[in-house]
Amino acid sequence: MATEDIAERRNLVVRAAVEQALVGGSDSSKPLVCLLDTDGIRASAAALTAAFEAALAPGTPVLHAFAVKAAPLVPVLRLLAATGLGCEVASPGELALARAAGVPATRTVLDSPVKTTAELREALALGIAVNADNRQELERLDALVAAAPTASPVGVRINPQTGAGIIDALSTATSTSKFGVALRDPGAREWLVRAFLDRPWLTRLHIHSGSQGVPLELIAQGVRELHALAEEINAAAGRRQVDTLDIGGGLPVDFTSDEAGPTYAGYVSALRAAVPALFDGTYGLVTEFGRSLLAKHGLVLARVEYTKSSGSRPIALTHAGVQLATRTAYAPAAWPVRILPYDAKGAPKAGPAVAQDVAGPACFAGDLLAAARELPLLGPGDLIGVPDTGAYFFTAHYGYNSLPRPAVHGFTVTPDGRVRFRLARPAQSTADIVAEAGAAHADALL
Ligand SMILES: *Cc1c(COP(=O)(O)O)cnc(C)c1O
Repeated sequence: MATEDIAERRNLVVRAAVEQALVGGSDSSKPLVCLLDTDGIRASAAALTAAFEAALAPGTPVLHAFAVKAAPLVPVLRLLAATGLGCEVASPGELALARAAGVPATRTVLDSPVKTTAELREALALGIAVNADNRQELERLDALVAAAPTASPVGVRINPQTGAGIIDALSTATSTSKFGVALRDPGAREWLVRAFLDRPWLTRLHIHSGSQGVPLELIAQGVRELHALAEEINAAAGRRQVDTLDIGGGLPVDFTSDEAGPTYAGYVSALRAAVPALFDGTYGLVTEFGRSLLAKHGLVLARVEYTKSSGSRPIALTHAGVQLATRTAYAPAAWPVRILPYDAKGAPKAGPAVAQDVAGPACFAGDLLAAARELPLLGPGDLIGVPDTGAYFFTAHYGYNSLPRPAVHGFTVTPDGRVRFRLARPAQSTADIVAEAGAAHADALL
């Protein structure tokens, strides 16, 4: 979709959200709502599938496993499953969500650097694919695999140590990263080859070296290392022991405009340039995209409750802050978000640009969505839209100040321009917050 069409569609949705009383109105009890573009999510999933299908030798098995942590909502997982995607999970909670969404074990992949023996045993019993993170985990798997037969494909995650992107906390492939077996450490490669030869049930290699801030070429370089290692292991084994490469996710998105950022087709081109043999059908593929599937399809709408001025800086106090945009509040330079101004009726707000802070409701000074941002001067009752928040924002709630998880509605737009909302997650009630805060154990510390 062209960027003007994206903006026009968003404006239609914002107005509909106000008209249908999902958010807004100074006396409304709904100061905040989160929206997900159901049509957009479908389109992204289709683009992912098509990009790999176009490049892969016909008949090559491929599983696109959505990284659940990016948007851990059962209706989202089910929507993606309906488009043919599976799930990548990294905790018992995420696995339970995938199962609640009806995602079959054969389309589920368990990663995570810290799996307990009980988690591993459950995954092996269910037949879920498991990627071991380290030598000690592999030793636990030895015992479990010997104790009970399993249908689970098992792999090992490697860290290619290809270097960092521009956000340190999200760079998974640095020389000292906590993830996977560090491939370039002395003796590591030989140990890995031997580990496979000793364990005929190891059939996969896994990497996840991309993330926001990592250039495509660097991600592709990691995949090239993965492929070369698979070839080395298979040559040593004298058979195609490694039959599947899990290349992870990590495609960045553009948070500065309505451009999508690198496309899946562009990523596939980068992979073809770096590792042409990846697509020749020798190996089945698994991918684990999260952010790039969901980010662009999320929108937060929050009411401006008050405005004020402090040290001559105008400040808009809104209901959206650190509870939804945790990374933005704590690392604003790495995670800037756009702020789109709307009036109380949900119409785009125009006017001369004034530098103002857009603050959230939490009781700490860093709770800002934007500092000195040039916007038409906001007033009480206006709304702000925060786009690109479909992954790792409102779906990764931060419970500071006991602020509730807001409602999430999916939306679709009919060809004649009607917007239909569907509740995907109800708002957390005050009663929920009290119960989760130990109300049933109120006397426990007396
Ligand atoms: C987080 C994660 C992903 C998804 O990363 P995105 O940047 O959201 O695409 C995939 N695989 C693993 C192992 C992860 O930890």
